[in-house]
Amino acid sequence: MGAFLDKPLTEKLLESGEGNGLKYGVASMQGWRLEMEDAHMAKTQLGEGELKNWSYFAVFDGHAGAGVSKHCASHLLEAIMATDEFQEDTKKGIHNGFLELDNQMRSLPELSSGEDRSGTTAVCAFISPRLIYIANCGDSRAVLCRQGEPVFSTQDHKPGLPTELDRIVKAGGSVMISRVNGSLAVSRALGDYDYKNVEGRGPCEQLVSPEPDIFVRDRDDKQDEFLVLACDGVWDVMSNEDLCQYIHNRLLVTENLNEVTSQVIDTCLYKGSRDNMSIVLVVFPGAPTPTAEAIEAEKELDATIERRIREIVQQENDIEWGNLVMKLKALGLEGLPPGGGLASKGTLMMKIYSELCPKQADSVIIIDSFPRN
Ligand code: MN
Repeated sequence: MGAFLDKPLTEKLLESGEGNGLKYGVASMQGWRLEMEDAHMAKTQLGEGELKNWSYFAVFDGHAGAGVSKHCASHLLEAIMATDEFQEDTKKGIHNGFLELDNQMRSLPELSSGEDRSGTTAVCAFISPRLIYIANCGDSRAVLCRQGEPVFSTQDHKPGLPTELDRIVKAGGSVMISRVNGSLAVSRALGDYDYKNVEGRGPCEQLVSPEPDIFVRDRDDKQDEFLVLACDGVWDVMSNEDLCQYIHNRLLVTENLNEVTSQVIDTCLYKGSRDNMSIVLVVFPGAPTPTAEAIEAEKELDATIERRIREIVQQENDIEWGNLVMKLKALGLEGLPPGGGLASKGTLMMKIYSELCPKQADSVIIIDSFPRN
C-alpha cells in the first residue's frame, strides 16, 4: 500500500561471503517505495563445536515502518539459539525462538507505546552439514533449486488460505480484499501488535500469528544447486520456475554472486516490481559453474542487442523507450536468459539508449515498459 516515488531508488546494497562449503550473495533495493523496510542477515559459523559448521540466512519484509524488520534481522538468530530446545530439537528451538522474540519485542518502548506499529515477515534457513531447516512466517519465500528447477518452496501465509481464514474468524476478525480486517496483506508476521490483542486467545490464535511453518530437508550435495530467500517484491514478478532457471543460467556465466543477485534485482525492476526487493542466494557445492561456451554466448547476445538498438535508433532517432522495447521484442532475439527474458537485459538496453538518446532516456519511466513474458 502507500505512495510511490517519482523515480525508483536503484542503488543496491550488496553483500557476499562464504563458509562451511557454502557461498552466498545478497542484494537489496528500495525501488519505487518511499522507504526501505526490508532487512536481511547472513552468517556462517554460528558458534563453537558442532555449530561452527552451521550457517543462517534470513530475509525480513517490513510493513508500516522498518523498526520491527530491522530488530528481527539483528535478533532473531540469537533468540532462536538462546532457546533451551535449539541444540536438542532444532525445529522446536526455531519455533520457540520466533514466539519468544515476538513476545520480547512487544515490551520495547517504541512498540509498547504504539509509536511504532510496524511488523515484518520472516523467512530463514539454518544449514547444517546434513540438513536444511527452513522457517517461514508471512509472504516472503524460500525456494530450493535442483538442476535448474524448484524442488521445494515455502507456502505464503495469505489471509485467504483456509487455515489462516479460520484462525482470523475465530479471533473475531474478517478477511476483506484479501487482507486481515481489510487492511493487512499477510496473516502471519512478527510485530503488528495491533492485531494481537484478542483476549483469551494464545499468541498463535490471534488475528496475526508469529508462528512459523518449519520444514526440514536432507541435503544432497550432488543435486542441490542453491537456495533462494526473497521477499514478495521479487516473487510478484518472477515465478519460482523463472527465478530458478534465471539464476541457474547466471551461474553458468559468472561466479560472482553479487553480479547474480544484482542482476536478479534489476530484472525484477524492469519486470515492473514496485516494492522493496531483497534476495539472499545461498549456493551449494553442486551448483553449476561458468563455462567458456555460456560466457561466449552471453557476449554475443549483448553485442547483438547493442547492434540492434543502434540500427533501430538510426532509423528512428527520437524513438521512445517503450517503442524501442517493443521493437526489440518483436525481433524475437534468440538466447535470452530463460526466466529473465528481455527484461533481464533492461539495464544493458538502458545504458545504450542513454548514450544514443540522452534526452529521451532522461525522462523514461521504466515501469511496465516490458510486457510480462
Ligand atoms: Mn514487500
